[in-house]
Amino acid sequence: AGRSGSSDGVAVYDDARDGSGRHRLEAVDQLRTGIGSGQLVLHYQPKLALATGEVDGVEALVRWQHPTRGLLFPDAFIDLAESAGLMSRLTSAVVDMALAQCRAWADEGCPLTVSVNVSPSNLVDEEFPDEVAQALRRHGLPAAALVLEVTESILMEDRERAVRVLSRLRATGVGVSIDDYGTGYSSLAYLAALPVTELKLDRVFVGAMTGSSRAASIVTSTLQLAHALDLTLVAEGAEDQDTVDALATLGCDVVQGYHLSRPLPPEQLWAWLQDRPPAGVRSPLADDLR
Ligand code: C2E
Ligand code: MG
Ligand code: MG
Ligand code: MG
Repeated sequence: AGRSGSSDGVAVYDDARDGSGRHRLEAVDQLRTGIGSGQLVLHYQPKLALATGEVDGVEALVRWQHPTRGLLFPDAFIDLAESAGLMSRLTSAVVDMALAQCRAWADEGCPLTVSVNVSPSNLVDEEFPDEVAQALRRHGLPAAALVLEVTESILMEDRERAVRVLSRLRATGVGVSIDDYGTGYSSLAYLAALPVTELKLDRVFVGAMTGSSRAASIVTSTLQLAHALDLTLVAEGAEDQDTVDALATLGCDVVQGYHLSRPLPPEQLWAWLQDRPPAGVRSPLADDLR
């Protein structure tokens, strides 16, 4: 069989193991059905503002509740969605779910910005900005409630179009974050080309910073660069208190990582939020979200 188990992070479809393409068609079909029938679910990982200790927002991370194979992580199906032309549907579903959740939390008195990961194909789609604007309207949310996380691969497809689409999104007030910052060969090229509001430093640097002065120097210089450009610096992948303390000492703005919390289903995230100290949630959106 060309399909393999999932809990170990193996893809639902593996080219090398299926010469006929039959299993691929089957996997694509299941994914299309899954997207259309509510099998995608979002887990949310909180981000903490280091200056205040308040929760700054959450990142939505997609999972696929597969009918027979259990809960699948993105590395098992994102590439397939992209190559099969399903990414626009997947992203629409994710944006809609994330904004519905954002609205529900706001209604509970807990206004949180939500970050959503987008793929290269979303940003060569000229209709994407209108779609996002409509989704925000549908849920009664200001554009500032949403941050889109992009990676450098968006500049590799149709660069001019991607810049145009992203600029239009940015003009509506949606935040734009560069994810996994520092790992792409053209990281600095993004900064010149893209209208961004946030850099998200990749966890390879964050994870190494307490044990390596070279990694720590990279964090420091990225922080200086981000602040010189008036961007928020988010450190991803903080796995222990020493790292969080080091980031706070350096003046990093926001931290995210397993040490704080793993990505959680909405009801578990809600419980986690209730355990935070009083006023533990920053409310930059509070006025807009009434
Ligand atoms: P990402 O956007 O860089 O998300 C961070 C990933 O690192 C998540 O994995 C998260 O669970 C994990 N992580 C968070 N904190 C830590 C930590 O302290 N240590 C370690 N080792 N890992 C940590 P996940 O959820 O499996 O997502 C993997 C990637 O899949 C994401 O990387 C993103 O590129 C992609 N992805 C997730 N959701 C979506 C989506 O809705 N749409 C698209 N297009 N891509 C998505
Ligand atoms: Mg991300
Ligand atoms: Mg990342
Ligand atoms: Mg990553």
